[in-house]
Amino acid sequence: MKGMTGVTMPRFFINAVPQDGLIPITGEDAHHIIRVLRMKIGETLIICDSAGHDYICSLQRICKEEALCKVERIEPSAGEPHTWVTLYMGLPKGDKMDFIVQKAVELGAAEIIPFAAARSVSRPESNALHKKYSRWRKIARDAAMQCGRGRIPAVGELISHAQAVQDAAGHDIALFLNENETQRGIRQVLGNQQVQRLAVMVGPEGGFAPEEVGAAVAAGMDSVSLGPRILRCETAPLAALSIALYETEYHSFGE
Ligand code: SAH
Repeated sequence: MKGMTGVTMPRFFINAVPQDGLIPITGEDAHHIIRVLRMKIGETLIICDSAGHDYICSLQRICKEEALCKVERIEPSAGEPHTWVTLYMGLPKGDKMDFIVQKAVELGAAEIIPFAAARSVSRPESNALHKKYSRWRKIARDAAMQCGRGRIPAVGELISHAQAVQDAAGHDIALFLNENETQRGIRQVLGNQQVQRLAVMVGPEGGFAPEEVGAAVAAGMDSVSLGPRILRCETAPLAALSIALYETEYHSFGE
C-alpha cells in the first residue's frame, strides 16, 4: 500500500462495515476522497466503524461519486483511551460550549453532557437548544475525525444538576471539580488504580452553588481541586481531562 502513514492518514467514520471486506464510501466523504484529497488507487485510508475499530483500507476503485475501499487489516483504534470518561459540564454562556466540546473530544472524553447549573446564566429555549445539539454533534464528529479518535463522542441533551449528579455517581469514580476544595487533587483520588468509567463534573462561569456541592458530596462524588488558581469554565474541563487521562493512561507509554 502506498500513501501517508500513521496519524496523518485520512480517516472516515461509518456505522457498519460490510462483511465482504469492500467498503463503498459515498456522499461528502467520497467527495473529500476523490476531489479534495485527490487520492489515487492503491493509497491507504482508515475507515473507522465508530465502535473502536480501525479498518486499514486501500482505495480500490473510483466510480463517479463513489470510492470503493478494500479492507487490508483491522486494528483497535489507537486513539481511544482505555478509560471511558464522561464530562458533565455546567452550561456556560454563549458559544463557549463549542470550544469545550471540540477540545474535550481531542483530549479523549467519551461523552459530553451539559447540565443546567443553579448559576448557569444561559437558559436557552428548546428550539435554540436543539440547534446547539446538532452544532455540538457536528463539532464532535469533526474533532474525532481530525484527531484520530476511534468513536465519535456523544453529546447529550441538557439535564438537571440533580440528574447529572445521579448519573455521575454511577461511574467507578466521579470527580467533582470544586473551586473551593483545598485538600485533594485528582491524583490523590485516582491513585494507581485502573479506572474503567470515570465522571468529571465542572461548573459554569458562576461556579457551583453550596447546595450543589452538598448534593454531589452526599451522592459520593469526590471533591477535587485543580490548584490554587481559579480557572475559567472553559479551561477547567480541559485541565481536568488532561490530568485525569494522563493519570489513567500514562502506563501506555511503554512501562
Ligand atoms: N466564579 C467562581 C469560579 C467558577 S470557575 C469563583 O469565582 O469562585 C468554573 C468551574 O471551573 C468551577 O465551578 C469548577 O468546576 C472549575 N474550577 C475552576 N478552577 C478550579 C480549581 N482551581 N479547582 C477545581 N475546580 C476549578
